[in-house]
Amino acid sequence: MKILFLAAESAPLAKVGGLGDVAGDLPRALQNFGIDVRPFIPFYRSINRSDIELDLVDDIFVDYPLGSEKALIYRTLINGSKTYLIDGEPIGAVNGIYSDPQVDAHRFTFFSLAALQAAKSMGWKPDILHAHDWHTSSAVVWLNRNRDSDPFWKNTASLLTVHNLPYMGAGGEDALDYYGIEAVDDERLPGWARHMALPMGLATADWINTVSPGYAQEIQTPEFGHGLEVLITDRKDYVRGILNGLDIRRWDPTTDKALPKHFKRDDLNPRQEARFAMLEALGLDTNPKVPLLAMITRLDHQKGVDLAIQSLVNLTKEDWQFILLGTGDPNLEAMAKGFESDYPDRARSIIRYDDHLARNIYAGADMMLIPSRYEPCGLTQMISMRYGCVPVVAATGGLKDTVTDYVSNPQGTGFVFSPINSDELTQTIRNALTMYRDKRRWRGLQRRGMNIDFSWQQSARKYTELYQQAHSERSQK
Ligand code: ADP
Repeated sequence: MKILFLAAESAPLAKVGGLGDVAGDLPRALQNFGIDVRPFIPFYRSINRSDIELDLVDDIFVDYPLGSEKALIYRTLINGSKTYLIDGEPIGAVNGIYSDPQVDAHRFTFFSLAALQAAKSMGWKPDILHAHDWHTSSAVVWLNRNRDSDPFWKNTASLLTVHNLPYMGAGGEDALDYYGIEAVDDERLPGWARHMALPMGLATADWINTVSPGYAQEIQTPEFGHGLEVLITDRKDYVRGILNGLDIRRWDPTTDKALPKHFKRDDLNPRQEARFAMLEALGLDTNPKVPLLAMITRLDHQKGVDLAIQSLVNLTKEDWQFILLGTGDPNLEAMAKGFESDYPDRARSIIRYDDHLARNIYAGADMMLIPSRYEPCGLTQMISMRYGCVPVVAATGGLKDTVTDYVSNPQGTGFVFSPINSDELTQTIRNALTMYRDKRRWRGLQRRGMNIDFSWQQSARKYTELYQQAHSERSQK
């Protein structure tokens, strides 16, 4: 089985959020199933060329209605597996991974078409085109329109994975036009969506999946479907939900190099080392009786940081300390900094991306607050459980699928609340703070979370099955 795997991010080369983790980890897990998967990402200027070994494997031209643009195809080895990097003038227009929507639409459409062209130029005929999110949806649309007339692509089936539905590629119409990707004429889509990368991909992909079974159901409803629910519901026989896994070697408290001391399930005392070192560095008290709550997140309305802050304000009579690590929306950054200055003796808001600190927070905090308004899968709750940090999550999408509520189930692994509002979260944190005082039960809660197998093994098997099904259906056409 040959899989052409296209994404805008891939950890460790280029990561902003969960998409980077998935697109970095899943190909490696698939290789263990004997699958020939070739992941492609854009060669961003922010990727340090001197850090990696590079082979220039091909140079090609991407055709568009009024001309053509050159693309260079590089190959590198990351943790023993191949990743392909595509360079070209549009990619280098800006430094980082994401920028302005119009510029990005141009870069990612160029990238998507270049990757298809590169596979063909290498004579490597994929059985599946596996595209991720709006950035690479134009490859799916292109394949759908061209495979009947191009024998090279005739037997290639497509799978589009949705990591975050509301990010659809708005503002990208000019770029799509530029590369000759015309609007779809599909009555199941609202007018505004017919020339937008992700909805077009959803209308034309052979198969669609999201990154948890819960979110796959939710996007078929008006509340979470963002206007695409009619199309998605109509295609429900071709919609799956496959939970993301974790790279359990990269996220392992028994070996994590960022931690002052390693720990394992049957001895959690060394967690205190990370906690004290971190609290001292941040100028907070190091009293082990005071529960340490945390959030590690993109600062986006989706993630409910406002709900967390409101709940902590409601709970000022209780003992807690709070560390927030995040960047993003300037208004939410200001809100987080404002919270720190209102509660300087118990709260810190660290506004940056910091993998080292994140790992110490997972290892040292008692509870992770994850009050997302929607959550396609979510990795932070899984990493938290693996590091013995108990998640407090909203009952939505992948959070609901991965955390079992302790209040309603003695075998629970965290705290799950609904409806998603600050009153409900306040009450849930209050319950968790009460439970925290019972050390024996709390240890049980931590250990049950640490026991769960979040490895990619299961997810990779499900992707393999889906690839096989899509491939055999395509071969019969
Ligand atoms: P999303 O993909 O929506 O951002 P996920 O929960 O799926 O959310 O993945 C978030 C990933 O990014 C996790 O690995 C988390 O640890 C990491 N992360 C988020 N914000 C930061 C930050 N400020 N510093 C370090 N890591 C972060």
